[in-house]
Amino acid sequence: MPVSAWTFALARLFAIVAAAVVLGWMTGYLAPTVIVVMSGYIALNFTRLYRLERWLRHRRTEDPPDLSGVWGDIVALVMRIYRRKQYHKRRIVQVFREFRRMTTAVPDGIVVLGAEREIQWFNRNAARLLALRRKVDFGQRIENLVRQPDFVAYLERGDYLLPVLVRAVFDSEVHLSMQVVAYGAGQKLMIVRDVTREIRLESMRKDFVANASHELRSPLTVIAGYVDALAEDTEIDQAWRKPLEEMRRQAERMRAVVDDLIELSKLEATGREAGDEVVDVAGMLSLLRRDVLSRTTHPRDVTLKLDSTARLLGSEPELHSIFSNLITNAIKYTPNDGRVDIRWWTDADGAHFSVADTGVGIAREHIPRITERFYRVDPGRARATGGSGLGLAIVKHALQRHNATLRIDSEPGKGSTFACHFPVRRIYNQTLMAAQ
Ligand code: ADP
Repeated sequence: MPVSAWTFALARLFAIVAAAVVLGWMTGYLAPTVIVVMSGYIALNFTRLYRLERWLRHRRTEDPPDLSGVWGDIVALVMRIYRRKQYHKRRIVQVFREFRRMTTAVPDGIVVLGAEREIQWFNRNAARLLALRRKVDFGQRIENLVRQPDFVAYLERGDYLLPVLVRAVFDSEVHLSMQVVAYGAGQKLMIVRDVTREIRLESMRKDFVANASHELRSPLTVIAGYVDALAEDTEIDQAWRKPLEEMRRQAERMRAVVDDLIELSKLEATGREAGDEVVDVAGMLSLLRRDVLSRTTHPRDVTLKLDSTARLLGSEPELHSIFSNLITNAIKYTPNDGRVDIRWWTDADGAHFSVADTGVGIAREHIPRITERFYRVDPGRARATGGSGLGLAIVKHALQRHNATLRIDSEPGKGSTFACHFPVRRIYNQTLMAAQ
């Protein structure tokens, strides 16, 4: 408030008091005159205070009172504060409306969860995808409304790095991907996406690969049969020997690729967890070693150390495929004067298989990608060894279905170790003992 208003008000008060004193002195009634004049002054200010208070109370509907001096300045100040408040209120409402429009336009469902996983807010798409009801479901815990076991397990695990896939309640053909993102003080944002299209495309891709490989298998068997017969025919022209041998090798490679594709498709088509046949791993490994030694060429030393007779609960053909692929690779990528050590053992963490070779090894940068389909460190060498490039992809997939992990340690020029770790619950004896 400008100082001049106060100076003026004080000057006026002083003038009124002075005038009252003079008037009182002249009339001979000094005290009564001063009292009357001051009462009038106070009454006037009371009236102004009353008008100001009234206006403040009803300022939405009433115009500001027309007051002068300090009172007028107070009215102007209040008006300014009021307008500023109105402006901010309008801005907040505008931002909120924009936010609402934006979240409605987002194709994903968004749910805001509190520290107790209770629903604080959700957008229209979340309501549609999860069948949530506005207002009624606010404050409810999300797992009480979205009850799919996979989703509940995902929430309990608390590891939100990857989304979880579930089927929608309202239509089991609709697939939803849900991911939780933690933020603020224990708050969580849940993003829900309809991934039915992606899942369908993925399934079409898998079907296509499975069908194409099946269709290729029969003509390939016929061609390979004729090529074999021709290659073994002693009367054939010598000039044809080399091309026929090459055709035979390439047909063999194609067969390996087609067989591995079919195997991979089968793994993808079956459920997420392998069954629980009792599999004698020690016996299987002994047979695999015998097969290796019966080959015409193999590394000089191929040892098998069986520190356990533990049997695994799983799928026999899949476990055979895992061990056979890893052992075959070790043999393939190790020179004849090298060695391959196979080991099977158990400890408190579970059952373990390892195959260590003194072969070519793998450079560090290739290791994370080596289990991808058709990924080869050295395509030329891999082609020469007749590999399909799918072996490790099959191993990884089959291990996942046995809740097992693969560890690869390797040094170029020195050799590699591939180790598989199976959890305790996959060991037959352990499960029996736990049940007793
Ligand atoms: P492939 O049929 O070509 O062997 P895999 O999927 O079995 O396909 O292996 C992928 C690649 O990993 C191979 O091409 C090879 O470069 C590398 N690899 C696998 N096992 C070994 C090993 N024991 N030593 C060195 N390299 C290996």
